[in-house]
Amino acid sequence: MDQIGTFGASRYRLRDLQLFRDADDPGVMAALAPCALVRVGAGQRIEDGLRARLYIVLSGSLEVAPDAHSGSDDSGVTRVLPGESVGEQAVLDDAVNLAAMRALEDCELLVIEPELVWQLIDRSNVLARNLLRLLSFRVRAANAQLRRRQKLGEFYRQLSLNDSLTGLYNRAWLNDMLPKLAARARQDGSPLSVIMIDLDHFKRFNDTHGHLAGDAALSCAAGVIRESLRPSDFAVRYGGEELMAVLPDTQTALAEIVAERLAERLRATMVFPDMRLPLPHITGSFGVASLVPGADEQALMAAADAALYRAKQSGRDRVSV
Ligand code: GH3
Ligand code: MG
Ligand code: MG
Repeated sequence: MDQIGTFGASRYRLRDLQLFRDADDPGVMAALAPCALVRVGAGQRIEDGLRARLYIVLSGSLEVAPDAHSGSDDSGVTRVLPGESVGEQAVLDDAVNLAAMRALEDCELLVIEPELVWQLIDRSNVLARNLLRLLSFRVRAANAQLRRRQKLGEFYRQLSLNDSLTGLYNRAWLNDMLPKLAARARQDGSPLSVIMIDLDHFKRFNDTHGHLAGDAALSCAAGVIRESLRPSDFAVRYGGEELMAVLPDTQTALAEIVAERLAERLRATMVFPDMRLPLPHITGSFGVASLVPGADEQALMAAADAALYRAKQSGRDRVSV
């Protein structure tokens, strides 16, 4: 960054600077006249040292990345074009400018020291107004970016808590949520039931029809479970061909009725109903259990597992409690 002169002695005028647009006070031009005009070669960085200064691009363009030290992604990188400024926020905050600034091409910049910025704000209403307008624009842009990031974060969160094949909640979701649901049930003294579901002879289904057909059957079964539950219930893929329904505010007797309904609908569901040769129906075995006062969610899972085992033992395609 080499000083090549002063603003007053250059070919540039006040009207070339967005921040000073419409400032016709001759005192403003007089105050800016001794300010340094510097040249920055293409690709060079602008090091601000420990004091933030206001830079106005007179020719060329700069690239500004929000915070060089935060290690954040490179979204939010902006290009500063002739007439535009950079560093005004750091100057107003009296803070170190953490943005990484680099010349995209050979540039000429006007450098304004922070004291002078404050003097000019006191002196020129037009500058104060332009600065407010600029900052308001920056705040809006920053908010928009924040919202985009929040949405993206939510998207990835969803992705990590849902199973990609079936769209049901996954084991990670269950590990996180079941203790919370159990704690709430204990606190409110409300019932909580689960139905553990394991598809019958699924290995044979895979061996006979292929793994892809197995995947489709699994999705089909997941769809049946999801659509048969109330909006307040949760459908989970616990692992392989093991699914689960979590039913808050539900007593064992009602959970058993729900499980019977699931078994019936699964039995009746056609796999590939729109193909010429539908595949054989699939069935499942169902184990129902409810949270016992004083017990935790692990005991609940163990009880559901034991009930499922009994359903398998007594012939499959049925519900055990
Ligand atoms: P059972 O009635 O005793 O439950 O018999 P099973 O064959 O279902 O039991 P087992 O646990 O021995 O086999 C489960 C099978 O489910 C084996 C595995 O290949 C299949 N499976 C698990 N996850 C998937 C999957 O994502 N896609 C497909 N196609 N098959 C899967
Ligand atoms: Mg299994
Ligand atoms: Mg099975």
